Amino acid sequence: MDGGAAEFLHDDGTGPYRHCPRCGGPLAARVVMRHDPPRLVCTACGFVFYLDPKVAVGAICRTQGKIVMLRRAIEPAYGKWVFPGGYVDRGETLEAAARRETLEEIGADIRLIRLVNVYSYTGRPVVVVVYEAEVVGGAIQGGEEALEVRAFAPDEIPWDALAFRSTREALIECLRTGAQGGAGACGEGRD
Ligand SMILES: [Zn+2]
Repeated sequence: MDGGAAEFLHDDGTGPYRHCPRCGGPLAARVVMRHDPPRLVCTACGFVFYLDPKVAVGAICRTQGKIVMLRRAIEPAYGKWVFPGGYVDRGETLEAAARRETLEEIGADIRLIRLVNVYSYTGRPVVVVVYEAEVVGGAIQGGEEALEVRAFAPDEIPWDALAFRSTREALIECLRTGAQGGAGACGEGRD
C-alpha cells in the first residue's frame, strides 16, 4: 500500500489525536449534535475532526480455476494469507483502487467481475469492499508487501492462516455464490 516503508506509522483508527489538523490547536471531545457521540473539536478554531471510516478494497483474483493470494510481508497479520487489496485514495474509484492494489501486490492486471460484498465490524475503522476478478494480464509475482504469492484451488485455501476476518468471510461468500455477473456488474468501466 505504501511501497513497503516500514518506518511509517499507519492510521489504525485508534488515535489518540491531540491536535487540530488545520491550526494545530488542542482537540477536545464535545457534543456537536445532540444524538451523536462526542466529536473531537478544536478548541482554537472550532474545526470538527470526524473520525471517519477508512475504505479498503480487495480483489479475489481467479486464474485457471484458482485464486491468487499473497502472504503478507508487513504487519498487521505478517505471514498470513490474503487476496490483494488496500486503502482507497481520496478521489479514486473503488474499481481503480482494486486494480492498482492488485498490480502492486501480485503483478497482475485484472478485470473485475462483480462485487462480492462489503464488510464492516463494530469498533473497527475499516470498511472493506471485496470484488471477484479474473486475471487478464501481467506477470504474477509478489511486490514488496508479499513474502510469497501462490494460486490456490478452492479446496487448498489455507483457512487457518488467513490474515483478516474479512478475508475469510469474503472467500467463503465468493466461493459459495460463484461468478454470476458479467462485465459491468460491479461498475467496471466507470471512470
Ligand atoms: Zn483548529
